[in-house]
Amino acid sequence: MELPIYLDNNATTALDPRVLESMLPYFTTKFGNAASRSHAFGWVAEEAVDYAREQAAQLIGCNDKEIIFTSGATEADNLAIKGVYEMYHEKGNHIVTVATEHKAVLDTCKHLEKSGAEITYLSVKEDGLIDLTELEAAMTERTILVAVMYGNNETGVVQPIKEISAITHKFGALLMTDATQAVGKIPVDVQADGIDLLAFSAHKMYGPKGVGALYVRRKNPRVKITAQLDGGGHERGMRSGTLNVPGIVGLGKACELCRLEMDAEAKRLSSLRDKMENALTQIEESYVNGNIQHRLPHVSNLSFRHVEGQGLMMAMKDLAVSSGSACTSASLEPSYVLKSMGISDDLAHSSIRFGLGRFSTEEEIDFAIEEIRKAVDHLRELSPLWESFTKGTVQNIT
Ligand SMILES: *Cc1c(COP(=O)(O)O)cnc(C)c1O
Repeated sequence: MELPIYLDNNATTALDPRVLESMLPYFTTKFGNAASRSHAFGWVAEEAVDYAREQAAQLIGCNDKEIIFTSGATEADNLAIKGVYEMYHEKGNHIVTVATEHKAVLDTCKHLEKSGAEITYLSVKEDGLIDLTELEAAMTERTILVAVMYGNNETGVVQPIKEISAITHKFGALLMTDATQAVGKIPVDVQADGIDLLAFSAHKMYGPKGVGALYVRRKNPRVKITAQLDGGGHERGMRSGTLNVPGIVGLGKACELCRLEMDAEAKRLSSLRDKMENALTQIEESYVNGNIQHRLPHVSNLSFRHVEGQGLMMAMKDLAVSSGSACTSASLEPSYVLKSMGISDDLAHSSIRFGLGRFSTEEEIDFAIEEIRKAVDHLRELSPLWESFTKGTVQNIT
């Protein structure tokens, strides 16, 4: 077992060696530009891109013509939301989204507010799920788009996309979903789920960084978006720029592997995750954040009261995890996702996100459980807050 142990697969995943192998020829001998129509170098590249498009389409149940390759999910989110807004803003200027979305969606919506869009940010319940009656109440005849993520990157909570789709379509709006954390991990089918636009990214599913895709529905209804990058008319005019052929080949291979291995892998990971969660929730004053039924199989978000997340991560040098306490941002605000769920600052600051992945082993999880237990105990022993808290509890009981 190699240290440190990687349990931050929601941030990014390791490239699967089989994906790397599929990509390598497209850096060397098969280096052609997929848009070069006049010689074999271009044809070879184009054929590889076509194949990857089919692999991606198969994973989410769409037609290959409905896949637009991008530089990642951030770009796909921007293209979907800005593209729909620019195309349909005369029909209506209202977009509904959720407070717990990824910044790629929230910041894009904020950007559109400056050009006249009206955005409703739905709140979530304590378990991270949206309230469908609240969604329905927010819809108006000016609503053109509903943007709700499939599975949350911090908590793993999976929204009821099918029900959300039914409400969205009842009001004649389009449903866009950022499915970056869900695609390849759980079954996602744009037909069965009634999704009109869907963003995902290769590097969250054992593919390379810097490549992703946007699904854009072509039938019932035919969705139109304005391009955000002009020049050359690649990707049916929706996203110009020379295609990242090795990246796209890797994305395709990653999609195929996820499709073939999903069922077994979801079972394996959820049982490892549950083992870890069951052990860690034995620790006094520990809490699971988010709905545990409607959740991605590989994610666990836990809070340990009176243990500061940042400090806990420092104390667990052999684990690579991420915390909902302020660390990535310059602010002292804890995770906006946990705060939107109504979790106190105190518990949000003490949260740790565990993201298991394809290369996680049982041995690693056993080791991680011990590391976390030791670190929580140690920090609590040093904590005056914990001391007064436990004394307080004792006093309350007696
Ligand atoms: C990682 C992530 C993104 C950003 O994807 P990139 O490909 O890194 O731009 C967007 N949304 C969600 C939910 C993510 O987890």
